[in-house]
Amino acid sequence: MRVAADPGLYDPENPLPTLHGSRCDACGTTFFPPLGIGCEICGAGAEGLRAVPLAAAGTLHSLATVYVHAGEDIEAPFTVAEVQLDDGPLIRGLMSEPATIDAIGSRVAAQWAELRTDADGNDVVEPRFRIEDRGDAGGGAA
Ligand SMILES: [Zn+2]
Repeated sequence: MRVAADPGLYDPENPLPTLHGSRCDACGTTFFPPLGIGCEICGAGAEGLRAVPLAAAGTLHSLATVYVHAGEDIEAPFTVAEVQLDDGPLIRGLMSEPATIDAIGSRVAAQWAELRTDADGNDVVEPRFRIEDRGDAGGGAA
């Protein structure tokens, strides 16, 4: 089975990644990661925040590709992206493969990436964004 690399942020049971967000009843702002102590926009208390699932899909807002990385958790090159989710928040995540600046404005959606297998034989997963559709339309689908 799948287990989340970061269980607080997404639910590995779903076939496609769904993020754990929170929404403020008072001002309607949606947050990711979910807030616990109260709304940072209007100051409403924690009782005014509701857990909401956020679809891991939106528009590629900006990106940075890392070519040299000392950690062993991920192999360079890889692309860190900011994605404007359809459900509201601007979030940061990883692309499934390195992307270039011309991809900005494209539709992206996350799929599960298997990072490793844990001691119990479970697949440890996290969402990675993939380009669904080029923002400039025309000449893309080769
Ligand atoms: Zn609020």
